[in-house]
Amino acid sequence: MGLIVQKFGGTSVGSLERIEAVAQKVAAFRHEGHDLVVVVSAMSGETNRLLAMAHEIDPQPNPRELDVLLATGEQVTIALLSIALEKQGIPARSYTGTQVYIRTDSVYNKARIQNIDSKRICNDLESGRIVVVAGFQGVDEKGDITTLGRGGSDTTAVALAAALKAHECQIYTDVDGVYTTDPRVVPEARRLDYLTYEEMLELASLGAKVLQIRSVEFASKYNVPLRVLSSFESEGGTLITAEAEGMEDPLISGITFSRDEAKLTILGVPDKPGVAYHILGPIADANIEVDIIIQNVGRDGTTDFTFTVHRIDYQKAFEILQEISRTLGAREVRGDNKIAKISVVGVGMRSHAGIASTMFRTLAQEGINIQMISTSEIKISVVIDEKYLELSVRTLHAVFELEKNSSGNGLSY
Ligand code: ADP
Ligand code: ASP
Ligand code: MG
Repeated sequence: MGLIVQKFGGTSVGSLERIEAVAQKVAAFRHEGHDLVVVVSAMSGETNRLLAMAHEIDPQPNPRELDVLLATGEQVTIALLSIALEKQGIPARSYTGTQVYIRTDSVYNKARIQNIDSKRICNDLESGRIVVVAGFQGVDEKGDITTLGRGGSDTTAVALAAALKAHECQIYTDVDGVYTTDPRVVPEARRLDYLTYEEMLELASLGAKVLQIRSVEFASKYNVPLRVLSSFESEGGTLITAEAEGMEDPLISGITFSRDEAKLTILGVPDKPGVAYHILGPIADANIEVDIIIQNVGRDGTTDFTFTVHRIDYQKAFEILQEISRTLGAREVRGDNKIAKISVVGVGMRSHAGIASTMFRTLAQEGINIQMISTSEIKISVVIDEKYLELSVRTLHAVFELEKNSSGNGLSY
């Protein structure tokens, strides 16, 4: 029986009853003879509660201190789960990210795991203990606490599975697998039994919140089989691995969306070499990720430049852009943080040009204005007004017939 890393998300440990239920589930695996490392998130709502407190004092809290605060959420659940396991007669030991040396870089609030020292965990496993590790947190070179970005416990789990050469990494959550779109928005969404890392990477990077993108990158890099399962039901599940035969090969794997977007435009910048660099350089230096970028055709020696960022970075990006606007002599900076991005995603789309036109026609028929478009071989993304998000996702899911098993195969778009 091999080692399994299991991760339980916020809802799964959302109350004391649920923590005890998780302990029972873990105990059952233990009795089957597995070695287990269990990663837990903070209780549902806790990370948001902590964030809101910090923001009440300062809308832009000091990032180092914010991480000290946010890391407390997971410290509570590791201790409670270990207490619950011990009560059931199962030896367990909890550790924070610092204690098991989950080394990250020093980019507070979105740190990346660089290295894990698995000695302490291995010693405990050899002594027959279940090891419970706090998700979402690490420690940098200086010994400062860092956090890995929202949803980061998934990445802790997969990184541990890779470091410990686990048999598989199981992500227990409040849905029973990965669906063609968020089943809370489209009840007709269909569960996907198998996915490749490549497909999951696309879904995660374009907004499918069920797995943090970094966790899928790790799984793919170290070839860790990743299974998404329900904490509450024993049926179902989605297995994510490298390409395997016999898997579905759909044209479109799913529809993703993200509400966490904001759009910034700088109007009337000089249309000359180096301007894009002047605008985006300082944004990148501030560790702000830029997604879709559009530069308009120049007219009268000036042009407009629009890009999207995560909504949490909006304020900071806006301020930086105002500064740039002054140095470049631009006309105006505009922003909108009530936008959403919807993407139709699938590796099978590579050879099907008609998907884009079907998508645009469908949105037009609903009277929804497309503000920005970005395409690649395997996805088409549009930016729209946030208020039309649900309607757009539902309509597109129906038009592409994703609820059907054929997943659009054989249809001509
Ligand atoms: P956890 O707290 O367990 O980490 P998350 O809220 O981070 O759970 O992720 C699970 C949620 O992801 C689901 O409740 C669902 O609403 C959402 N979700 C978004 N897209 C998808 C998808 N394609 N398939 C399954 N769930 C999805
Ligand atoms: N508690 C963190 C969050 O809410 C990390 C996680 O749950 O994965 O984002
Ligand atoms: Mg999550």
